[in-house]
Amino acid sequence: MHPIALSILLGLTAAVANVFGGAIIVQKHWDRSYLRYFVALGAGFMLATSIIEMIPASLEIRGRSAAFLVLLGYLIIHFFEHTVTPHFHFGEETHRDEFLDIHKSYSVLFGLVIHTFFDGIAIASGFIVSNWLGWIIFLAVFLHKIPEGFTITSVMLASGKSRGTSWASSVALGAATVAGVLTMAVFRHQVSFGLPLAAGVTIYVAASDLIPEVNKEPGVRMALLVFIGVGCLFLLDHFFH
Ligand SMILES: [Zn+2]
Ligand SMILES: [Zn+2]
Repeated sequence: MHPIALSILLGLTAAVANVFGGAIIVQKHWDRSYLRYFVALGAGFMLATSIIEMIPASLEIRGRSAAFLVLLGYLIIHFFEHTVTPHFHFGEETHRDEFLDIHKSYSVLFGLVIHTFFDGIAIASGFIVSNWLGWIIFLAVFLHKIPEGFTITSVMLASGKSRGTSWASSVALGAATVAGVLTMAVFRHQVSFGLPLAAGVTIYVAASDLIPEVNKEPGVRMALLVFIGVGCLFLLDHFFH
């Protein structure tokens, strides 16, 4: 399949996972305990993918200046998720008192829209470079997509929005992911710009969004799952690369 067609198809798959994550929280009786395993596995797999695969590929196609773009990608997400947004963390939002001001929930949505746009940029730039890079970046993105949709929908619910509006916010994240894929498809000759930026974003999501959630869990099981996430990348590399 053509790399662009494949990235659009997988971008849509990732978007569906966002929407499914949102549905889990509006459907109160749906089980959600397994989501934390996605967070821990996703953290390890994303961290390994960005450092072991995305950064070296970026340096190869752009040279040393790719390092600056990796840092820029990291800082863009720090700015939109944790600087202009007063209260944000992955997982279920239970601090209702933080969202008495309705605008706060929109600042979280805006921050996550920027982040998910780069999830899409990451998938498409991966496939533009190689099939292997595209698939593992897709897996890395996919592993945190359900918790991501879950997170934004719970923020909206905490701020007092209806279940329909709250769920729609997870659809917005899915749409931003597909928009990222399409943007990279149009600007495919700028992949040496998109890939390092997306690498920085992926490091941020793994190390600064997901790992803190893993660390909140008591016991050693969740912490160990991060290593299994890392190990999965090496296994895939051994058998399929
Ligand atoms: Zn909170
Ligand atoms: Zn994401």
